[in-house]
Amino acid sequence: MLGRLKEKGYLALDGAMGSNLFQLGLISGDSPESWNLEHPDRVKKVHQAFVQSGSDVILTNTFGGNRHRLKLHQLENQVIELNRAAVKLARECAGDSVMVAGSIGPTGEIIEPLGSLSVKDAEAAFREQTSGLAEGGADLLWIETMSDLNELQAACNAAASTGLPFAATMSFDTAGSTMMGVSPTQFVQFMQNFPASAYGANCGVGPDQLLQTIGEMKQAGGKHLIAKGNCGIPVFQEGEIRYTGTEEVMANYAREVRNLGAELIGGCCGTTGLHLHAMCVELETHPYQPTTLEQKTRPPSNPKSKSRRRRRNSSS
Ligand SMILES: [Zn+2]
Repeated sequence: MLGRLKEKGYLALDGAMGSNLFQLGLISGDSPESWNLEHPDRVKKVHQAFVQSGSDVILTNTFGGNRHRLKLHQLENQVIELNRAAVKLARECAGDSVMVAGSIGPTGEIIEPLGSLSVKDAEAAFREQTSGLAEGGADLLWIETMSDLNELQAACNAAASTGLPFAATMSFDTAGSTMMGVSPTQFVQFMQNFPASAYGANCGVGPDQLLQTIGEMKQAGGKHLIAKGNCGIPVFQEGEIRYTGTEEVMANYAREVRNLGAELIGGCCGTTGLHLHAMCVELETHPYQPTTLEQKTRPPSNPKSKSRRRRRNSSS
């Protein structure tokens, strides 16, 4: 993956699997992973839209493909089968030029010491899932939407044990940190313990917060940063969750987050093939212009900020 990143300068990821499956008839409370066997055509439809829109990397429909999540649907004995099937479907859509990344989401359990699932048991569950993804022939593994460092560690250990390259993202959705209080800087420091190819942020609370998160990771020395932000802000409308992001919003976010230092760029919840297409066009047609958070929030041409700075200097 890093070879292709070096050639192109950035990589386009994909959009949302879950919210697009809901558009194709998945009902809230159903297991999206069960569709890898029951409705392979619909899962492929989502992959195909992203491949046609310009994805360099697509993620398998296995976000909840660990035994703890699958147990909610009495599918905990099909972990290997469902993960293997998902990779096969993604591969059929990816062709030779697009990479297939095996998606790994949280267990859904709270990990010790706050919760009851031990780190050892979490790692065992992730190892089971990663072995299914590896058997299926994934090019790399993709840990996402994590909020707890102990769980992230368990997932990274499991991913590393396969010998495949892997990437990891956390969701910074609670006042700039993860739900469990991990800051972007702490996350960058933590990832130095693992041989991950790339790491960064996904999901969260909309493009603006994600720009801030990526800017902080860059300042903390983060490399090969991933940005996979939601398509705007979720709102509850007519009995369902909808996302407010337009194609223009997502294109702007893609360009800005690239300039802040993200190299692997895609969308999370609510992002369709159309959004992704707009993002890919924007990235292709706008050369990289490195920007820092400070430049972004305080442009040099802004006379207000100049006078504030002068005032501060003169009083010191
Ligand atoms: Zn999301």
